[in-house]
Amino acid sequence: MTPQQHILQTVFGYESFRPPQDEIIQTVISGGDALVLMPTGGGKSLCYQIPALVRPGCGVVISPLIALMQDQVSALRQLGVSASFLNSTLDAAATREVEEQLLAGTLDLLYIAPERLTQDRCLALLDRAVISLFAIDEAHCVSQWGHDFRADYLQLSLLHQRYPDVPRIALTATADARTRQEISLRLDLGEARKFTAGFDRPNIRYRIALKQNARQQLLSFLRREHDGDAGIVYCMSRNKTEEIAAWLSAQGLDALPYHAGLDAGTRAAHQARFLRDDGVVMVATIAFGMGIDKPDVRFVAHLDMPKTVESYYQETGRAGRDGEPANAWMIYGLQDVIKLRQMMSSSAGSEEHKRAEQHRLNAMLGLCEITSCRRQALLNYFGESLPEPCGNCDSCLEPVDTWDGTEAARMALSAVYRTGQRFGVNHLIEVLRGSNSDKIFQFEHQHLPTYGIGKQLDNNQWRSVFRQLVARAYLSVDLERFGALRLEEKCRPLLRGDEQIELRRDQPQAKAARRQTRTHLPADIDVALWEALRECRRQLAEEQGVPPYVIFHDSTLQEMCTTLPRNTAQFGRITGVGERKLDKYGTRFLQVILQHSDPARTGISGV
Ligand code: ADP
Ligand code: ZN
Repeated sequence: MTPQQHILQTVFGYESFRPPQDEIIQTVISGGDALVLMPTGGGKSLCYQIPALVRPGCGVVISPLIALMQDQVSALRQLGVSASFLNSTLDAAATREVEEQLLAGTLDLLYIAPERLTQDRCLALLDRAVISLFAIDEAHCVSQWGHDFRADYLQLSLLHQRYPDVPRIALTATADARTRQEISLRLDLGEARKFTAGFDRPNIRYRIALKQNARQQLLSFLRREHDGDAGIVYCMSRNKTEEIAAWLSAQGLDALPYHAGLDAGTRAAHQARFLRDDGVVMVATIAFGMGIDKPDVRFVAHLDMPKTVESYYQETGRAGRDGEPANAWMIYGLQDVIKLRQMMSSSAGSEEHKRAEQHRLNAMLGLCEITSCRRQALLNYFGESLPEPCGNCDSCLEPVDTWDGTEAARMALSAVYRTGQRFGVNHLIEVLRGSNSDKIFQFEHQHLPTYGIGKQLDNNQWRSVFRQLVARAYLSVDLERFGALRLEEKCRPLLRGDEQIELRRDQPQAKAARRQTRTHLPADIDVALWEALRECRRQLAEEQGVPPYVIFHDSTLQEMCTTLPRNTAQFGRITGVGERKLDKYGTRFLQVILQHSDPARTGISGV
């Protein structure tokens, strides 16, 4: 057995590496640099934690997430790893203590904020210490292209110049090719071995439904499928996060808002509640989420559509990091499409930049409107292929009907043309359905050849047609006139009759909301025991002031329920139980299990 396998089993309690963890770890142990691209939940942390334990000296982890360092360090200490952090939350005495530990060689891992690391004092300290490796977490923060850019990350190329013999491992979940290139360039990682792990997250169920009554749809999704679960609800605006959180709270859910406009204290408090308590629903803008490594987020819901597939993938990827079933649920509608198209065309930046943004938005809209497997489309976007439909997305589970929308699309496009490309959807539908509204008469649209030719479709059906035409860029949204639709070059063949178009038949809400209850508990689990184990975990977490998942993950508790260990030897074989946790918690949990199966007996046999 290699040293890294031994550590995996005894310290972390895991049976085997997930590829390509083993190769990455081997590379770094033997002193090589690595650039690791792995989806959220893929298991990046082990890739530097284990080499840091195997190599002599202390591993230095650079992470922008000061608020999370404490939890990361607590989790490592639970495993018996000697870990600490240096950031602005420590006072002078605590800082000195950590520095002394580092110099004494008693630390295995040290987390440092980038702005701290690049200070002379800190570099002078590192000069005098034995360093096993540098891990640069959230490495996409060096990229000015993405949205998480941190100026301090640009300084990190000095690591290579100053410590040429210390291996460096940069890690990110951001897939974008351009970002990857920038990381490699700016961190001077041209020579590093590149590792990419598969992007598939098979435990996440992707669903994208039509927005009808957003609040009710969200509430019934939460009540039906996620009673008592932790999850994130993403909204586009700060106001909306507050409104939705307040409304969910009024409905009896434990919901909190999070956005960059809240003061730092409130943000920290809400984040801590989300991490520490069971079942908090965080209603947030995209300001929330990076580096949240809470493994038991059971759902990510989007009330507004993200601008790119990358964002969608990253945000939904925060669900189900523990590998247990999780939901990525989104609703979107015509207004989202119009709003985003408008935002894009009004954004500052070069023509090239705008074109790139449009291109990305089109891909996102394509994912929403697609009638085949969503996972296949998603993976395809990241350059991977899935040979068979996944069986775990809405398209696979409840195939959508399509209909020949050629005739309807032609009518819609013609209504746009005949009214001078100056009107929004509502008016265009009135024209098509032959309405008698004042506006119709004001513009004398009752005389148009398209007036009243579309009575066979109702309002919602027409909205669906327009949404799909905008989403597929047959129509564009006029900036000058709020919401006015205009014809794009692309619609010529359709108007001429040279092209057919298949449209999605939108599902009525009732049908879409039909299925299933809780997603994640296996059917054969003893719920009473499960709750008792959770209670035991909660008490232990509270005693130590750490999040419950730092004690044991849900999957570990589930394995206790299914294998019902009766002694410490059996307990030690459960995934996620390493030596330290066996010592610390074995007895407490065994007691719960034994009491549960035989209330009269409380003694525990040894090995
Ligand atoms: P990320 O890539 O998002 O940083 P983490 O390092 O937090 O992912 O790992 C995600 C989850 O997978 C964690 O709960 C971790 O303990 C678990 N994990 C990682 N590697 C393994 C493994 N080889 N076997 C079992 N579980 C693993
Ligand atoms: Zn599918």
